[in-house]
Amino acid sequence: MANALAAVITSFNNELELQSVPLPELGPGDILIKVDAATLCGTDTHRWQGHFGTPPFIPGHETCGTIVELRSERCDILGKPLKVGDRIISTYPSCGRCYYCTVLHQVSLCPNVKIFGGAHPSSLLGGCAEYHHFPAGGSIVRIPDEVTPPLAASAACALRTVMNGFEKVGAIESHETVAILGGGPLGLYSVAVARDRGAKKVFLIGAPEVRLDVARAWGADDVLNLDRTPALPDRVTWVKDRTDGRGADLVFQCAVTSVLSEAIEMVRPDGRIASIGVGGGPATIGPTQFFKPVRIDAVVMAEPRHFYHAIEFLATRRNRFDFARIISGTYTLDKTTEALRKMATFEEVKPLILPRLAN
Ligand SMILES: [Zn+2]
Ligand SMILES: [Zn+2]
Repeated sequence: MANALAAVITSFNNELELQSVPLPELGPGDILIKVDAATLCGTDTHRWQGHFGTPPFIPGHETCGTIVELRSERCDILGKPLKVGDRIISTYPSCGRCYYCTVLHQVSLCPNVKIFGGAHPSSLLGGCAEYHHFPAGGSIVRIPDEVTPPLAASAACALRTVMNGFEKVGAIESHETVAILGGGPLGLYSVAVARDRGAKKVFLIGAPEVRLDVARAWGADDVLNLDRTPALPDRVTWVKDRTDGRGADLVFQCAVTSVLSEAIEMVRPDGRIASIGVGGGPATIGPTQFFKPVRIDAVVMAEPRHFYHAIEFLATRRNRFDFARIISGTYTLDKTTEALRKMATFEEVKPLILPRLAN
């Protein structure tokens, strides 16, 4: 196993190239995994479309795999030694020396962080490949048997970010209502967590209908089809009609940043907003909105504990929520372009890339 097959973005919006990449030389604390499952995130689509990043790179930053090699002793996030054969996910490796790593203990803000899914193929830091390098400096979460590889992979971006958002907004009281904007993985996972945290009512606005079905199945009290409700005032009225005219106590913006203004319209005065979705152009806040006191938490990435929270949520709530419904299509490595295209056109919710070629 001197090489790994990888799907590589060599130019924006074009077919990915299958390349044979030499396995990296492991240093102290480095881990090599055999990829079991890689799921794609909206950010992969944005990178493929050229919104950020510099080709060539291997996409995929939601990756679960089995350890095939590790150098020197490494422990998981709970301090238990890791060994070959363990199934794991990893946070992005941070430097451990900067202000954010040492003083604030917010390693996700480390300016020296090594991101997955956007690095040169030679570093093997992307999920759309047979093998993945998890360098020293990342925190490792071991995957319990009851969590499948695709769902564990989805915890490595989508669900851990949602967990970070719920931590930021604080406890949800039993009388509080939650409105969720966006029916993608962030929005759907937010439905499950809001339900689990004891919200009185959970509402979701999104599209298409197939995603709304998942929201209903996971406990949303009511859903609104965005495609059939193009006028913003109608959507605001829909939320207010369900919250005694006040607006929701909490709004989770799980769509795109430009929807933030809509979130402010839908939250009650002095309510809380978690803004998780990115992209979609600038967020415009109207002058009258400045007279409405609201708390907005911008949620970007997550700390190592949120990865652990996400995996534990999948394990302990597996009988309450049919999480497998979030994984939409399954593709082999050579079909990664098709998966990205279908993400871009919203035909996919959370596609799974398997580390092998089509027969
Ligand atoms: Zn992501
Ligand atoms: Zn740092």
